[in-house]
Amino acid sequence: MPEVPYSKFKAEEAASNQGGYGAQPQGGGYPPQGGYPPQGGYPGGGVQPQGGGYPGAYQGGGPPPAGAYQGGGPPPAGAYQGGGPPPAGAYQGGGPPPAGAYPPQGGAPPPAGSVPKYSGEMPDDDVMDDPNRGETQPTAPPLEKMDHIGGYNNIGFSAHLLPPPSYDEATKPQPPEERQAIQNVPTITEQDAREALLGYVAEHCCYGKGAAEDLRFTDLISTSAFHYTLESFGEGRSTCWAYEPYSGQPIDGPHNGPAPGPWDIQASPQTMFQNSEQNFEVPHTASVKPCHDCFATGYVRCHRCFGRGRVRCNHCHGSGHVTRYHNGEHRHERCHWCHGCGRRECYTCHGHGMVVCKTCAGLRNLKCYIKLTVKWTNHVNDHIVERTPLPDHLIRNVSGQIAFEETNVKVWPINHFHEREINEASVRLINNHQFPSERILMQRHRVRIVPVTQCMYKWKNTESDFFVYGFEHHCYAPNYPQTCCCGCSIL
Ligand SMILES: [Zn+2]
Ligand SMILES: [Zn+2]
Ligand SMILES: [Zn+2]
Repeated sequence: MPEVPYSKFKAEEAASNQGGYGAQPQGGGYPPQGGYPPQGGYPGGGVQPQGGGYPGAYQGGGPPPAGAYQGGGPPPAGAYQGGGPPPAGAYQGGGPPPAGAYPPQGGAPPPAGSVPKYSGEMPDDDVMDDPNRGETQPTAPPLEKMDHIGGYNNIGFSAHLLPPPSYDEATKPQPPEERQAIQNVPTITEQDAREALLGYVAEHCCYGKGAAEDLRFTDLISTSAFHYTLESFGEGRSTCWAYEPYSGQPIDGPHNGPAPGPWDIQASPQTMFQNSEQNFEVPHTASVKPCHDCFATGYVRCHRCFGRGRVRCNHCHGSGHVTRYHNGEHRHERCHWCHGCGRRECYTCHGHGMVVCKTCAGLRNLKCYIKLTVKWTNHVNDHIVERTPLPDHLIRNVSGQIAFEETNVKVWPINHFHEREINEASVRLINNHQFPSERILMQRHRVRIVPVTQCMYKWKNTESDFFVYGFEHHCYAPNYPQTCCCGCSIL
């Protein structure tokens, strides 16, 4: 084993959890780019791995881990060769290649009990045990190893939004020939008003109900609030590369034909005007690649002991003994946690120094494909016309009469409502509902009429008012005269 300065090792150890097999190979290890061009078919033989399979992958770290590449079928053709042409017979045979071409066999996990021992370089000192030391998280394969898929340029591993192709002309809205008539709403009686107020008082534990029972109505002024709502139900699409452990699942790769465009894939929402999301694998974009994280061994260096298989004993801090104060004197005692060795086996890797690779779940290969995410969003905006002192927003959450409702691919602004402010709001909101990165599937707008009654009353020497609104007869009485539990009035 070559001598490596201790400080250098530390730096590498901190920078990489890959198992210390030397630097990550550059440009090798995966099927050469262009092995599956969408057009032109499959190159039969003679493909020269660029720069060799895994040049240097096991340099500086001794032999590869025991058990690697064993038990799961023959090594993948060409993948780990030193840079010469692939072995005779690899990639030949004329017919379409097996799905994905890279591993001829399914991705069976390494047999149980074959956990390799970490065999990279390691200084003799122990590391502090930290059970909370961050586990190695799965990582995305290097982008440059991804296939080139026609029509899907510049996509990465995070979502990339794809505006829809222009479609405006076909769906230009037309003014409707006939529109639904506007309906009106019922008014309330004095009894309704009093019951609503009593309900309101009951919800406030301190309020006295005497005023609500005894007050005398002087006037009930019935008005209507108008609530206009516009909904635009849009569909957005984005793509990104995705990967998952390869366990032999079907591979629909470019050999099956060119990939359909992102807006050519059929997708329809379960329910209109409701947010939802669905993911699809874009046909003909899948391939199998050796796992970049573990160099297709299924194991990576243990993140807890850094491959040592053991850690320093936390109890005695590695000394093997502890000092106890007993009967007035300090005594050295053997540490019973580590039996005096000052170190113990790593609980995470059970002494192997290696753990199962999270990226490929130990299956050594990854299925890579382009994922299409279709996201349906219901954009809602509204406008409330309410002319009493009742706070406008209270109208939004009570029921009323749906006076008008229209659903269309593109709705035409309301122009026949007797309240001009509603007609104006309709024009404004519809103009504002532009979503260039989405395709609008459907629009819906409606006007609700919500009854609001201003109830004027006299109680003792007080003259005041309260409001009853919505079909539920909700009450709003900020000036209620009897808000103290002892029944006195606060004026
Ligand atoms: Zn100990
Ligand atoms: Zn370990
Ligand atoms: Zn892996």
